[in-house]
Amino acid sequence: MLEFYYKMRITVLTGAGISAESGIPTFRGEDGLWEGFKAEELATPEAFERDPIKVWEWYCWRREVIGKVKPNEAHKILANWQGKYDLWIITQNVDGLHQKAGSKKVVELHGNIWRLRCSKCGRVWEDREACRKIPPRCSCGGLARPDVVWFGEALPEWALRKSYELAGASDIFIAVGTSGIVQPAANLPSIAKSFGAKIYVINPEPTIHSEIADIFIQDKASTGLRRLDEALQDKRPS
Ligand code: NAD
Ligand code: ZN
Repeated sequence: MLEFYYKMRITVLTGAGISAESGIPTFRGEDGLWEGFKAEELATPEAFERDPIKVWEWYCWRREVIGKVKPNEAHKILANWQGKYDLWIITQNVDGLHQKAGSKKVVELHGNIWRLRCSKCGRVWEDREACRKIPPRCSCGGLARPDVVWFGEALPEWALRKSYELAGASDIFIAVGTSGIVQPAANLPSIAKSFGAKIYVINPEPTIHSEIADIFIQDKASTGLRRLDEALQDKRPS
């Protein structure tokens, strides 16, 4: 007898909030400032042009914080969903914690803090030791920058295209730990909704997404996902 086993298509959009419980500050939270600077003053092409060393110092501080932390329960639950569901994660985070938890299908909308990009020849490479001598340089002599998307910059084309495609083809779309302020990621839940996905939002605070959510779980990422994990178990064919 033929058995059909349909795996629910789940897309999860994550923001800085999912890594908060690992100990990485969000930009807009109370610990988001660095030496009195806001992220918006450092994470821009203009800031890098003006003072690459200052921008690199900030990234080196963030690398140090991120290098020490571990994925938390929320990252682990999502990694565990890979076998159960047809799952993709779209993350705005640059910390690589989803991959560290074991997730494979991850779209990085804003790049990755462990990668560098040459501002002269465009080469991209990973270097965990880049902060030994700042500003780091490419083999061509060009100044290297973090391979992340800064305020005012376009998102990587493939990542954006894939995200829209996923938003248009999900049974369930979940936004976790994202304020919904940073575009174009902020549009994804409403696109998913217009294509018929059921929208879940997990955040300790109401956001613009919680207004359009079918279910708003007002909770931290770890406990919120644990609750959702249990609720979804009941819906799976046994
Ligand atoms: P954001 O705009 O995504 O907002 C953070 C959200 O997380 C807020 O809505 C807040 O209520 C929520 N939050 C706080 N604690 C939470 C918890 N324990 N569980 C679930 N949600 C929680 O993030 P931002 O900090 O304003 O950053 C803007 C951009 O910078 C985004 O691209 C963001 O991903 C990036 N960023 C990345 C990292 C990282 O890689 N870890 C850290 C800071 C910022
Ligand atoms: Zn180069």
